Amino acid sequence: MTDRRYVIDEMISAKAIAARIEALCRAIHDEFDGTDKLVVVGLLRGSFVFIADLVRELDLPIEVDFLEASSYGDGTESSREVRILKDLRGAIEGRDVLVVEDIVDTGHTLHHVTNLLKSREPARLKTIALLDKPSRREVDMKADWTGFEIPDEFVVGYGIDYAQRNRNLPFIGKVRFT
Ligand code: 5GP
Ligand code: MG
Ligand code: MG
Repeated sequence: MTDRRYVIDEMISAKAIAARIEALCRAIHDEFDGTDKLVVVGLLRGSFVFIADLVRELDLPIEVDFLEASSYGDGTESSREVRILKDLRGAIEGRDVLVVEDIVDTGHTLHHVTNLLKSREPARLKTIALLDKPSRREVDMKADWTGFEIPDEFVVGYGIDYAQRNRNLPFIGKVRFT
């Protein structure tokens, strides 16, 4: 699988992503205006570029934490079983929390992670995903804010990998096997 030859076709440009993040941050400001206890939680590893751009557009006092949940492994099919590989460093009880995800696909990952974090009794828990593939959903889950809805294509770039490669592409592209 990982040694198959492929090309990457641009799907969402770096410029379009930046413009969308500006709009999303206006909505996030409206939600969290006045807070002094917001923790922005990035789901590793795919959200690391998105969270970096997002927090620099947020004019709010925030902390940043990370959580790693297992998802695809190195293939292109979801495992459905979600495991926590790295937990948050800080407590979130009574805090406002914004969970940042790269893609909501079947929905299992975000569903599992939000249930886990809710059990820790944050004051408020909101979610944002850069990408959403609604046609792939298996559990009832939608992020509070979504960057772009996309069709059922395997995408890479802007933090998102294929077999750990291509995370450093500045745009979102779809993988086309040749
Ligand atoms: P879910 O649990 O919603 O099925 O999967 C979510 C995770 O699967 C995402 O956070 C992402 O890591 C991975 N994933 C879903 N679709 C894609 C895709 O098109 N490309 C890559 N590289 N990962 C994906
Ligand atoms: Mg992810
Ligand atoms: Mg991955």
